[in-house]
Amino acid sequence: MSNRDSRRSLASELAAAADAYQVADVIPHCSVCARPCCCLDALVLELEWKQIKTFWKLGESRNAFDKRLATGGGPEEIRAGNGLYYVHSKPCPAYDLSGHACTIYGQDIKPAGCSDFPVYEDMGSVTADLRCEAVNLDALVARLARAVGPEFRIVQSADAEFPFLVTLAAKKTVKKAPGRRPPRA
Ligand code: SF4
Ligand code: SF4
Repeated sequence: MSNRDSRRSLASELAAAADAYQVADVIPHCSVCARPCCCLDALVLELEWKQIKTFWKLGESRNAFDKRLATGGGPEEIRAGNGLYYVHSKPCPAYDLSGHACTIYGQDIKPAGCSDFPVYEDMGSVTADLRCEAVNLDALVARLARAVGPEFRIVQSADAEFPFLVTLAAKKTVKKAPGRRPPRA
């Protein structure tokens, strides 16, 4: 297997293990979470116009909406920038507050970032977002280590600016050369 193929296969093993961790350990906790990420009090949701239009049930054109935002006509939780929209400080309109669930689960309109949070593969490593109370770093590391096998060890590093973002990288285990018996005197 070429180096590129083996990197790709390692990345897909990590991605599968991250997905399996979400399904087994994170999603079951969402219904009882004390700080649901969908309330957007800690997280910022990045949306495209199609999602803004659908979630806020807008009838106006994008131009008219952008003008309204720019002149302070709200919604106050939405900021525009780089052709996208950033939502913060109020619950996502697609969140069912009483049922503690996303009402568009499994639909194409659901933002990719929502499916990734809080554990996802990125550029061959796994990122874990510790703002999710369901993430247990030791359990996640153990799962990733099982997935990649004894040839690799999982190395942790926290982001310097955002320490709640932890990168988990699989590094090849360095084999020690067999020791040589010292010559007899
Ligand atoms: S913060 Fe974590 S446990 Fe809480 S709702 Fe979000 S994904 Fe679920
Ligand atoms: S789209 Fe769904 S998962 Fe994403 S923030 Fe809104 S309610 Fe939560």
